[in-house]
Amino acid sequence: MDVEAFRKAGYQAIDRICDFYYSLQERPVVPPVQPGYLLKQLPGKHEDAPPEEGEDWNVIADDYQKLILPGLTFWQHPNFYAYFPTACTFEGMLGDLYSTSTPNPGFNWTSSPACTELEMAMMDWCARLFGLADHFLNSSGTGGGVIQTTSSDSALVVTVAARSQYTRRHPDAKLEDLVLYVTSQTHSLGVKASLVLGLQCRILDVKPEDEYALRGETLRAALEEDVARGKRPFFLIGTVGTTSSGAIDHLEEIGEVLKDYPDVWLHVDAAWAGVTLACPEYRDVSRLKDINTYATSVGTNLHKWGLVNFDAALLWVRSRTDLTDALDVTPEFLRTKQSEAGAVIDYRNWHLGLGRRFRSLKVWFVLRSYGVKGFQAYIRRCIELNEYFASLVKTSPSLALVTQPSFALTVFRVVAEVTRGEGKVHRHRTDDAANPLGLLNAISMTFAKEAAARGDAPPYLVVLSSSPSMQTAESTSVVLVFGADEAKVKEVGDMLKTKLNAKGGGKGRWSGKFTGVWREKESKVVDEALASLIGGVSV
Ligand code: PLP
Repeated sequence: MDVEAFRKAGYQAIDRICDFYYSLQERPVVPPVQPGYLLKQLPGKHEDAPPEEGEDWNVIADDYQKLILPGLTFWQHPNFYAYFPTACTFEGMLGDLYSTSTPNPGFNWTSSPACTELEMAMMDWCARLFGLADHFLNSSGTGGGVIQTTSSDSALVVTVAARSQYTRRHPDAKLEDLVLYVTSQTHSLGVKASLVLGLQCRILDVKPEDEYALRGETLRAALEEDVARGKRPFFLIGTVGTTSSGAIDHLEEIGEVLKDYPDVWLHVDAAWAGVTLACPEYRDVSRLKDINTYATSVGTNLHKWGLVNFDAALLWVRSRTDLTDALDVTPEFLRTKQSEAGAVIDYRNWHLGLGRRFRSLKVWFVLRSYGVKGFQAYIRRCIELNEYFASLVKTSPSLALVTQPSFALTVFRVVAEVTRGEGKVHRHRTDDAANPLGLLNAISMTFAKEAAARGDAPPYLVVLSSSPSMQTAESTSVVLVFGADEAKVKEVGDMLKTKLNAKGGGKGRWSGKFTGVWREKESKVVDEALASLIGGVSV
């Protein structure tokens, strides 16, 4: 393809993308395709190998429309409520387009000065947007920020740095004695970092009465116990906005405990909720003061709720040498006079790879186009919508909140009447204290699966009850209301009401269906729970 052919193809691509956005609302959120749909359709004879001869661009471009688009799940669809949002703005797309038009591995300043300097500036812009303390700024000369691919990468990078710091301070320590700490609500990135590094991970308990947030006393007890056993605590992940329940760990209590354990690195993972720090009114609840006081490192993702297309995981550290001491490997060919003179940052020493994408461009575009006010307005609007959704849950006789709404996240469960048998008498409200947790969990899980399987304008709900302590507490359905509009939120509320029409006579679709599903699955836990509920009647 030459420049003029690219111009033509580029105009066509933008036109098609715009048409796609006009049609998005009418498209299904999840594609109605079966596994292997694409593999069966790949054109011509080259299912298993690339074509021998180059093809005409128009054919390739049409195949994208015909084969790929129909197999995509649209995370930016107004009816998408599953998992977490993935940000999507036109400014972000343009940033990626320009960035890829001048490919840059960007590993050091010399390899493309603009890549390094814009990233330094954007990390400082974001630090200021979120109210982070000066010691996290690149301009501090001691701390600083870097864009990673994901929060999981950020966690891995700082775990490596913490391990390296610990072993430098304690050369006698055996690696098998090092312990990192997470809670049962921490994202799996903590366990993953421990797996990758072959280190022990201790999962701390959190309680429903604490809204699933880590308390200082729990941490202290674990640290004391481990130190008494000869273990070496070196790293803790605190979370602002856990994945399953939006919990915000008690960072002040944690920070105070860690004063007695100065070798423990505190990383704050605020992957989705961190962007609320842009709004001064949420800084207390998001524990900005504690982050600034106690955190060794902190990260948030602009690519979740922060309007910048994937990927843009922001990571700040209090001391940049903690990263470079752990990750700087400089063979002769990577030496430059600017970095030898200490005049520039070489980001290759702040992450795992050598090469890196030019991600700061899209951050620059988005922040300039929205401005602080636009960014704040977006975050506030999402939270308002969630408050509206939570009000629908609160006034619904069929649903109950599991935890208090957290920013744009609502965690709820079903409070339905369960009828056993064909219209027989055994009817129980699932919010009865006597109801076993297994039953509550099964009901909510079944409900969420049914809701997700709906074909008509489905509001995609997701169950995030895989974390063990939530399972032993109360089951959860989770709705994330990021970026939807009021009508959509109401649609979800109405769907829930219809779906839970079981209340009253037990003749509604919900209870009938539930009975079916449960028989089909022959779930032991539900059977046992139910048997105990209805006085030992065999099911
Ligand atoms: N941390 C939290 C609290 C999350 O909710 C998530 C994903 O939802 C992650 C980390 C993972 O983020 P990433 O995909 O950037 O690793």
